Amino acid sequence: IIQIETLNKWYDPFHVLKDVSLQVAAGERLVICGPSGSGKSTLIRCINALEPFQQGRLEVAGIALDDTAKTITRAREHVGMVFQNFHLFPHLSIVENCTLAPVHVLGLDKRKARERAMQQLEKLRIADKADRYPAQLSGGQQQRVAIARALCLEPSIMLFDEPTSALDPEMVGEVLDSMVALAESGMTMMVVTHEMGFARQVADRVVFMDAGAIVESADPQHFFAHAESERARQFLSKIL
Ligand code: ATP
Ligand code: MG
Repeated sequence: IIQIETLNKWYDPFHVLKDVSLQVAAGERLVICGPSGSGKSTLIRCINALEPFQQGRLEVAGIALDDTAKTITRAREHVGMVFQNFHLFPHLSIVENCTLAPVHVLGLDKRKARERAMQQLEKLRIADKADRYPAQLSGGQQQRVAIARALCLEPSIMLFDEPTSALDPEMVGEVLDSMVALAESGMTMMVVTHEMGFARQVADRVVFMDAGAIVESADPQHFFAHAESERARQFLSKIL
């Protein structure tokens, strides 16, 4: 469902992604890890067309990303994104956060959008906060709203960029539990995270990046027990 072939990107003159190739099948769950600055966020942002790239090929749900606004819009319809810092609209209530894009992007009527939003908020166990504003919620609750909001667009792929790293430790669990449930529902997921417990529990593959390149890609058991590169072993010794 995602095809990346020898992707190269520069933040002139800095070569940030180097010959990155990666295939993700529908229903697969990938965890991306690696040191700070290795290009994990940049890769995720390229997949969602938030960043342009200069060389290579990137296909999302059968749509080859080029620079045209039309392709980007079509491809994005398949992709939901959750950021480290939630990115909720502060001036909109929780349910309005969830209905905005379905109404304006998908053209759903307001009642239908609200119904869908309430369903997702219920799945994320946060429906009781529907009429509050983001600032009135804890970080963990805001992040669950962000996940619900992304799901309201019924994406076929969900991208997460360090969804728990801005949270107080006691809130990490509730967000990870929601992500595990989403994985169990069969969603295709690419998750940048250093939560290796999550990787063990749900990932089909762990992809280790360093200095803009994919250094290793293995199933979690194999990666944690016998990482092949020295760089991956060093990284793991710091975070495990
Ligand atoms: P972290 O774990 O800290 O989030 P990361 O693996 O997500 O790191 P990226 O954010 O993808 O890393 O950044 C990769 C490299 O690209 C870094 O060296 C960063 O400084 C550089 N970079 C990121 N965004 C820009 C930008 N807009 N302009 C120039 N350089 C950038
Ligand atoms: Mg990052």
